[in-house]
Amino acid sequence: MLLRHTPKEVKERNALTVNPAKTCQPIGAMYAALGIHACLPHSHGSQGCCAYHRSTLTRHYKEPISAATSSFTEGASVFGGQANLLQAINNIFNVYEPEVIAVHTTCLSETIGDDLPQIRKKAINEGKIPEGKYVLGASTPSYAGSHVTGFSTMVKSMVEFSEKTGEKNGRVNIIPGWVEPCDMEEIKRMAELTGVKTIMFPDTSGVLNGPMTGEYKMFPDGGTTVAELKSTGDSIGTLALGEWCSAAAARELDKKCKVPCRVLDIPIGLAATDRFVDALRTIAGVSVADELAFERGQLVDMITDMHQYFFKKKVAVAGDPDQVIAMVEFLISIDMCPVYIVTGTPGKKFEKRIRELTDDLDYEVKIKVKGDLFLLHQWIKNEPVDLLICNSYGKYIAKDEDIPLLRWGFPILDRQGHQYFPTVGYKGGLRLLEKILNLLLDRKDRDAEESNFELVL
Ligand code: SF4
Repeated sequence: MLLRHTPKEVKERNALTVNPAKTCQPIGAMYAALGIHACLPHSHGSQGCCAYHRSTLTRHYKEPISAATSSFTEGASVFGGQANLLQAINNIFNVYEPEVIAVHTTCLSETIGDDLPQIRKKAINEGKIPEGKYVLGASTPSYAGSHVTGFSTMVKSMVEFSEKTGEKNGRVNIIPGWVEPCDMEEIKRMAELTGVKTIMFPDTSGVLNGPMTGEYKMFPDGGTTVAELKSTGDSIGTLALGEWCSAAAARELDKKCKVPCRVLDIPIGLAATDRFVDALRTIAGVSVADELAFERGQLVDMITDMHQYFFKKKVAVAGDPDQVIAMVEFLISIDMCPVYIVTGTPGKKFEKRIRELTDDLDYEVKIKVKGDLFLLHQWIKNEPVDLLICNSYGKYIAKDEDIPLLRWGFPILDRQGHQYFPTVGYKGGLRLLEKILNLLLDRKDRDAEESNFELVL
C-alpha cells in the first residue's frame, strides 16, 4: 500500500494539491522548442529548474535533452538575470552554434521581474545575436498554468517568424499539439496520403525518436526549419490540433498574416480522426484516400469484434486537456464508461467540453479541472473502476487498488515505445484498443477460475 494514507473521505480543498496531475510550464516550452530545427532551449532561471526539466524530458523520450541555463546565483536572484542571459546568448552562439535560442522564463526570473523582450532588444543592440540567428522568448512561470500552457506559449512565440509575402505557398500549417514525435510523423503521413502539402510546427519527429547512427549530432536533422516557420505566413490555412496546445498560435498567425485557422481535437479515436481527415479532404478538394479508408475499416472491425470486452467497463482518465477530451470521446464511442476525469491544467472550457460529450450518458461522470491524483484515488477508493488511464504516476494508484493501468500521456517514465508507436489516427486507434484490450483480457485470465479459463477470447 504505497498510498496507504489516502483517506476515502473526500474533503473540499482549495489551497492544497497532492500528487498534481501536471508539471512545470517550462517543460512544455522546452519540448516545443525542440521541435524547431537546430534550436537550443534556454532556461532563464536557476540550474535546478533546468536540470529538472531536462531530466523529465530525457526520462520520457529516452533521449539526451540539451538545454542551456542562465544559472542564477544569489546575485542574479536579487538584482535580476539580465547580465547572465546576455552572457549566455553570447556563449551559446559562439560555442554551440544553434540557429535559434528559445528562451523560457521560470518562477524565479518572473518573480524578480526580468523583462525578456527588453533583454533580447539589448542583446540585438549589443550585437550578441549573429546575422541570420534568432532568439525567441516565452514567459512561463510555473505558479500559473501547467506544462501544457508552457508548450502553447512557446508555440505561439514561433509565430514571430512568420512572414506574409503575398504569394501563397500552397501549404497547410499543422500545429500538432503536444503529441509524441511518432504522432507527428503519423499526422504528416495522413496529410501526405490525402495530397496535402504541410508545414508542421513544432515538429519533434526525427529529433526525439531518431535512430542510433553512432554519430553524435548536437542538432538532429529533424525539426521545423526557420525557413518553414517564415513561410507559415503564406500558407493557405492552419489546422490547430487541440484548443489548449495549438489554438493560441493558430489565432496569432491568423491575426498577424491573415492565415485562416480551424481548431480541431487531436485526432485520437475514430470520430476525432474522421474530423481531421475530413478537414484535410476539404482543403485538398479530394475524396478520402483509399489507404485511409482501409485503415478506418480496420479500426471499426476491431471495435466490432471486441465490443463485448469494452462494453460498460468503467474507466478513470487523468491527463492533459486536449488528450483527455479526445480519449473520453473515443471511450464513449466504444461503450466504455469514463466515470472519473481529471486534468491538472486550468481552463473552464475543459469541463464544458467534457459535459457536452457526457451529458446524455446514463451514469454519473465526475470531472475535476485543476485536480490532482489524490482526489482521483479517493474517488476510486469509494467506487472502483475497471481501468485507469494515466501517465506513469498513476502506477501507485493502480498497484494499491489492483486496477489495470494504461500508461498514456506525459510523462511515461517507466515504459518504452510511446515515442515510436503513434496513438493518433486510425492506426493509432488500433494501437490504443490493442493496449486496452490486452490489459482487460490479461486481467480476465488472471482472475478466471480454472473452469472458466478460456483458450479463445
Ligand atoms: S516550479 Fe518553478 S522553481 Fe520549481 S522547477 Fe518549476 S519552474 Fe523551477
